Amino acid sequence: MKKLKTFVFLLGAVSLLFLLQACATATQTDSQPPKYVFLMIGDGMGQNPVKLARIHAKLNLDTMPVKGELQTGNVLGKTTDSAAAATALACGVKTYNGTLGLDKDSKPVESSAELAKKAGYKVGILTSVTFNHATPAGFYAHVAKRSEYAKIASQAYAANYDLIVGYGISGLKEDAAAEDAEKAGLQVFHKNQDAFFALEAILKPTLVFKHFGYEMNRPKADSASKALNTYAAEAAELLAIQEPTVIPQDPGYGPVRDAVRPLNEYTAKAIELLSKDNPKGFFIMVEGGKIDLAGHSNDTYAMITELLEFDQAVARALDFYKKHPNDTLIVVTADHNTGGLTLSEKLPADLPARIAKNNTNFNGRKFTFRKNETIRTIEEKMAKFGIKNLTAAEKESFEKILKSENNDKVDALNRNALRIADARIGITWTTKGHTPDNVYLFAVGKGAELFSGVHSNSDVGKIMKGFYEKK
Ligand SMILES: [Zn+2]
Repeated sequence: MKKLKTFVFLLGAVSLLFLLQACATATQTDSQPPKYVFLMIGDGMGQNPVKLARIHAKLNLDTMPVKGELQTGNVLGKTTDSAAAATALACGVKTYNGTLGLDKDSKPVESSAELAKKAGYKVGILTSVTFNHATPAGFYAHVAKRSEYAKIASQAYAANYDLIVGYGISGLKEDAAAEDAEKAGLQVFHKNQDAFFALEAILKPTLVFKHFGYEMNRPKADSASKALNTYAAEAAELLAIQEPTVIPQDPGYGPVRDAVRPLNEYTAKAIELLSKDNPKGFFIMVEGGKIDLAGHSNDTYAMITELLEFDQAVARALDFYKKHPNDTLIVVTADHNTGGLTLSEKLPADLPARIAKNNTNFNGRKFTFRKNETIRTIEEKMAKFGIKNLTAAEKESFEKILKSENNDKVDALNRNALRIADARIGITWTTKGHTPDNVYLFAVGKGAELFSGVHSNSDVGKIMKGFYEKK
């Protein structure tokens, strides 16, 4: 009996010791920043676009336990653009629209990525638009105008980041830019993305910017993520009718080309390369850049497709988090809302299929208006696609285009037809621009609780810079 008592006592003492040690370790690590940080930004990913995507699929970002919101206004309290928002998210200061990495007095302010690099972390900046576009540039550039593409690109080369990935380059000749980047000491992949995917390690700063233009990542039906399977049939139909040359004048993006590797594959590759032999950790920014372009074009199908693809990139970060749950922080948010999408109270039960069908009919260029349409021929064509009995307002919107001097009438007519078809299933776009509403924030992992509740967008920059500032 005495032996047993002693044993129990010893057991208790040992447990207590373990407990104390565990507490000590916990306090010790808690003062440390998360070893692996992901900041993932859906450009133009407002709350309603997320709600609409949820109707299509279970979103990975919804599995993240911490939910919050960001106020997106710029330094004037007005609707932000991507440059001022990127500056807030990266550098922790509000500034004027068009400005990157400078505060309201034009003073350069360091970004979280720059501080992470200085502190010895590996840094990766990835986007599905050009690498010198506003959002990625917010993490390495300091310029008064977001259109100073040459200056922004040269600041990207000088940043000494381990990896910068973009889909092309803005405002510059691709070959000349690649030469400049190589002269600045970078390893450049701009023609052969497969060579990048074959890399086993990053030995010097690496730039990947194979030019895809602004093509959307409309996924192939057979390889589409599970998220898209709900309307894979429509997607297949859609892809079959897409020809790259049909809409060269399209403002933001065009049909897919086979060569496009989706953002989530670049994200997975970046994680693989930046986590290898890296005892210190990394900071990775991933931007889903074309959600915004779809919003500007009031293209519902494109917005959902881009949002779901961005959500697949989030899934790759979550895969990594599950392997390193105590060391990883993932924050997913947006810079602003684009297009002012509204959803009516009653949405059809088969909404995803209806959106895909509208897109196929009116945006997929299967059905095209001619130059010399009349309101009667338009009514006939609309009826053929199930849009019967045009209202007075709907007719008027067509008549306005017919009367206008618009030299791209065919496109305008198609877009108007799509707008009407979308409105009839409960989806209305209210603007071609940005809107000032709050955006969602989702977070998981070490330090995620810092982001719960409603924050200003500049708080994201402040909190993340805090991880790397010398104390
Ligand atoms: Zn925009």
